[in-house]
Amino acid sequence: MIIIKSEREIERMREAGQLAAHALERVVSSAAPGVTTLELDALAEQHIVAAGGVPSFKGYRGFPGSICASLNGEVVHGIPGATRLEEGDVLSVDVGAILKGYHGDTATSVAIGQVDRRIRRLLEAGENALQKGIERAEPGNHLSDISWAVQSYAESLGYSVVRDYAGHGIGRDMHEDPQIPNYGPPGRGPRLRAGMVLAIEPMLNEGDYRVATADDGWTVYTADGGLSVHFEHTVAVTDEGWEILTARDA
Ligand code: MG
Repeated sequence: MIIIKSEREIERMREAGQLAAHALERVVSSAAPGVTTLELDALAEQHIVAAGGVPSFKGYRGFPGSICASLNGEVVHGIPGATRLEEGDVLSVDVGAILKGYHGDTATSVAIGQVDRRIRRLLEAGENALQKGIERAEPGNHLSDISWAVQSYAESLGYSVVRDYAGHGIGRDMHEDPQIPNYGPPGRGPRLRAGMVLAIEPMLNEGDYRVATADDGWTVYTADGGLSVHFEHTVAVTDEGWEILTARDA
């Protein structure tokens, strides 16, 4: 069942979304060669806790971090650790925050130092794919219009979209209905209406879409070893269209 949020609930989710967004900004602005992903994790956690929030991911099914930090061929759910970022890496960071009972969830991928054109092109595609999906999150559209917008854009550039992981509804729980796959034909699934809040999160691979999970039980990586990027926003469907609750410039 898709939970419809009231104006008051959306207002709270905007606050949670902004907290997650600012924590992510804190991480991104500190992500540089020589920094460890555990140091970035501490920055995000401190930021969230100082604002009276709780990191959504910490302890979730035993996940040890406050952020997910996934490097290069890792897709999502990377565990922060002693790995030092290196010039030329691509880092995907996912941050979730609970504030006043509601979750905000957002992710981005960034270049560490100077990266080659191949990575810059993939990063740009991932960011644009998220935007294409968000633009379909309007009242009256079908849920899978989002999925198709992401897939058709990514594949037109020669990339694949990960199929084993999807976006999700979000609210009092981090993962609510509906699941939002990043692939599939348009015109399927429930019609969108104002008050739905969706975490839209395309994962683009430079090679094949298939992924596997590491022995740590969490880290998802590309089966072919190719690079992957991940972009996510928490988006409210509104009467007028949509609003990005985790916008970092808000
Ligand atoms: Mg999410």
